[in-house]
Amino acid sequence: MNCPYCNNEDTNVLESRGLPGAEGVRRRRQCKKCGKRFTTHEKLVNIDLKIIKKNGKIEQYDRDKLAKGIMKACYKRKVSGRQIENLVDEIESKLLTLNTTVVSASDIGKMVLNRLRRLDELAYLRFASVYMDFNNADEYKRFILAPI
Ligand SMILES: [Zn+2]
Repeated sequence: MNCPYCNNEDTNVLESRGLPGAEGVRRRRQCKKCGKRFTTHEKLVNIDLKIIKKNGKIEQYDRDKLAKGIMKACYKRKVSGRQIENLVDEIESKLLTLNTTVVSASDIGKMVLNRLRRLDELAYLRFASVYMDFNNADEYKRFILAPI
């Protein structure tokens, strides 16, 4: 969602009001570059994307599931629902630019981790421990010592 004033791509969501059903969502946004605010009516884009899990299983991309996973990692941390929404928005924009219909779960996991790390270190580590699907504690330790 580009800023209508300066066309900058990077915007923050200040407020989201979901309309029931597939009506879409009304978002109040602020441009990160020029600081101007604007409102968008966004149709919920159903991202047609398949996720390949580490065990080889394929499932449909599910925004709610992704958001819930992040929320769980942020439990009792100072990360707001809005920040999580923003994060998922960023991931979805990124996924759309990839122009692919299949993506691996670990790629999405890394995209989340890159962003989550800037928000909260502990949430980042929690998410990593669940999403990166480490086989053992050593793998996890190596990850912490040499993060992506
Ligand atoms: Zn702007």
